[in-house]
Amino acid sequence: MAEKIDYDFQVHERPLFDAWMEAGYFQRTEGFGPLADNPYTIVIPPPNITGVLHMGHALNDTIQDTCIRRARMQGRPTRWILGTDHAGISTQTKVDKKLADQGISRLEIGREAFVEQCYEWYREYGTTIVNQIKGMGCSCDYSDEHFTLEPAYVKAVRKLFVDWYHNDLIYRGKRIVNWCPSCTTAIADDEAEYVDEAGHLWYLRYPLTEPVDGIEYLTVATTRPETMLGDTGVAVNPKDERFGKLVGKTVKLPLVDREIPIFADWHVDVEFGTGCVKVTPSHDPNDWAMGERAGLERINIFDETAHVVEGYGAFSGMDRDEAREAVVAAFDELGLLDHVEDHDHSVMTCYRCHTKLEPWESEQWFVAVDGLKKDAARVVEDGTIQFHPERWRQVYLDWLANLKDWCISRQLWWGHRIPMFYCDECGWEDASVEDVETCPKCGAAVRQDEDVLDTWFSSQLWPFATMGWTEEGMGAPEIKRCYPTQVLSTARDIMGLWVARMVMASMYCCDGIPFEHVIIHPTVMAADGKPMSKSRGNGVDPLRLMQDYGADGMRFGLLMQVTGTQDLKFNEAKLESSRNFANKIRNAARFVMMNLDGYDGGAPDPQNPVDRWIFSRLANLVAAVDEAYADFEFGDITRDLYSFFWNEFCDWYIELSKARLNGEPEERAQCQRNLVFVLDQALRLLHPIMPFVTEEIYQELPVKKDAPMLIGAAWPDAKALAAYIDADAERAVSMVCEVVSAVRATRARYGISPRTELSVVVKVEGGDAALLQAQAGLIERMGNTSELAIGADVEKPGESSVTLSAGLEVYVVLSGLVDFDAERIRLKKECEKLEKDAAKFEKKLSNPGFLAKAAPEIIEKDTAKLAEVRDNLERVKAQLAELG
Ligand SMILES: [Zn+2]
Ligand SMILES: [Zn+2]
Repeated sequence: MAEKIDYDFQVHERPLFDAWMEAGYFQRTEGFGPLADNPYTIVIPPPNITGVLHMGHALNDTIQDTCIRRARMQGRPTRWILGTDHAGISTQTKVDKKLADQGISRLEIGREAFVEQCYEWYREYGTTIVNQIKGMGCSCDYSDEHFTLEPAYVKAVRKLFVDWYHNDLIYRGKRIVNWCPSCTTAIADDEAEYVDEAGHLWYLRYPLTEPVDGIEYLTVATTRPETMLGDTGVAVNPKDERFGKLVGKTVKLPLVDREIPIFADWHVDVEFGTGCVKVTPSHDPNDWAMGERAGLERINIFDETAHVVEGYGAFSGMDRDEAREAVVAAFDELGLLDHVEDHDHSVMTCYRCHTKLEPWESEQWFVAVDGLKKDAARVVEDGTIQFHPERWRQVYLDWLANLKDWCISRQLWWGHRIPMFYCDECGWEDASVEDVETCPKCGAAVRQDEDVLDTWFSSQLWPFATMGWTEEGMGAPEIKRCYPTQVLSTARDIMGLWVARMVMASMYCCDGIPFEHVIIHPTVMAADGKPMSKSRGNGVDPLRLMQDYGADGMRFGLLMQVTGTQDLKFNEAKLESSRNFANKIRNAARFVMMNLDGYDGGAPDPQNPVDRWIFSRLANLVAAVDEAYADFEFGDITRDLYSFFWNEFCDWYIELSKARLNGEPEERAQCQRNLVFVLDQALRLLHPIMPFVTEEIYQELPVKKDAPMLIGAAWPDAKALAAYIDADAERAVSMVCEVVSAVRATRARYGISPRTELSVVVKVEGGDAALLQAQAGLIERMGNTSELAIGADVEKPGESSVTLSAGLEVYVVLSGLVDFDAERIRLKKECEKLEKDAAKFEKKLSNPGFLAKAAPEIIEKDTAKLAEVRDNLERVKAQLAELG
């Protein structure tokens, strides 16, 4: 049974979440500004009602919430549609187990009572994951939550089934399916799991009915001797000269005494085994195909639980494994077991219960996909639907190209029951949206198909069945205005199962695409690079992460790790630094607010170079962030925001503002306005990713507000801000920062107190010299310099340190401050030690034996260490050089 986990909101998060919800921001918003008529909609990949929040959801839901929150701030009428999936086989398994724990069997209580038990389970546990999504701060439309078994959804599924059935896109057929004898249902190809098995090849002798040229028997090799009970032929390759004269003759199948033909088929691999293969059409997909070509009889020897059916003497009633042993023993006894070889191969197993699947002939319903997949491929080929990262486009197209008819019936009770009705009296049958009680032809009672539909059959309608399509079709108001949706974000493993099918269904039902952009997010792996799993114990629980780092810290830290790669090696340190970042934001805001005595709410105006620099940096940041959002480059977005806020705004702008806040009244007032402006803009940029901390601060910020809450405030306008772009101010202030950093680093290197005034010389190219000279006052104050010379042709003073940075050489005079002799001795010792270390790593890393045997992580680590040692060595050598 699923554990009931209710995430305990952090005290300051829950009230904000409730306030957003009560203010109606989670429902379709009104929209404002130039994009007010451009709706933006996302449908959440419906989590299974059996699910609890895992790292995949945490990342995927963060991505979607970030997109939807930004769109809302851009003025687009947004809605993030929420719902859950009934998850057929997975829920049925859980309820089965719950009943079994109470000593009740599903078969005992019957279908109706069992389905009621499933609904009860849904009511009790189905909302667990929705509450956890709330805990993350996700701005879904909780007022209109959907469920893939709600009445309107059931009707939508039936409408599509009936439509496809009447248009010959759904048919019933006997097929070899992958059958799970334990779940007693068919399992789709892409739901099966492959497991390597150390097995055997048994060589069995089949006597010819009449000897040919002295040949008395053929030997066939098989991995599954028990299926020989159902053999209806022996095949050889037509170009295999060894057997040419036997084609057309027959063998007498041992144990069952059946006379079966020897025939030729190009499919037979001359190299495998003896070159003759036994053919069991009912229990092997390849044999099925050969049997079709040769017109062989099909004999099903297993029942639905993989026990041998009646009519096989002592073998009847045995399960697969018992039958195998018994058949081999019988062949041995008859002297017909030629020999046995070891043979490793892979077998298909059930993804639910891990039982070996049985290729089994059964009657199933299929969707003919050939017509449907053409449209689904075209809209991706022509770019109507775009994949991010782009490489997934080809994966999607390949999947479609290889798609075979889709087996949609499942032998379960929980799910959408197939809407086919049969009259056993007169043979009438039809599909119907409404239940049929009596036969329209003869009036007898009819019965409904016992099977349910594959869960993906219902999931494929998700984007439009949640928007009113069932009753009003494409005329439903929400569909008319807001379809197609904008973004679908999902994991790569359901790209074919779900994404491609939604496109096929939408192209058919809605005559258009279901979404414009598909984001395939990286798979979250454990820190060791392996999949997270309970058995390995390397999993991470997002609920714990939210408790430790706050929802904001988890969201920002996860997005930071999104690069273009397929897998994301989870790094908890990023969440820690994101939590620290949230604190940094809080502290910066507190500093600004503590310095707002007398703040007049006037317009910002960048008058001095420092203001012009930060305004210009802000304008460039907004443009860069907008561009990254267009490609869904979340890693870039978080890194840009982090470095602007922390390195530029906090480390420099706030620091550079301190003196002005204590300055003349007009200067103080202007500084306040500009600080408030930049902080406010930064909060807006950060809000989609860190909704809580930013909203909390926005509520306290004494600015003129365009919306009562940040969630509904306007996204920074890159076009308007572009007026602030000022390359000279950026260059000037970035040079000031470089020089001051160089001076500070020199102090740290030589242990010189910040209170000691220093003499500094800066060598800088022509035009920049004037730019920098104009800011000499700033450098003097920030760097605590007594003398400052700036120019293109200044000389390096004797006994001075050197720092090189882009276009600048910064010399700090050290005479009288540093004991040069002692320093030289210390550095030389350091130099020798580092050289030894470097040699050690170089030797190790050039040793082929080590490289062949060591784990890649170790090699990577040592390579990084060597680079670090070399780097330090360079630095020490440079320091030695500057001492002369
Ligand atoms: Zn199973
Ligand atoms: Zn009838």
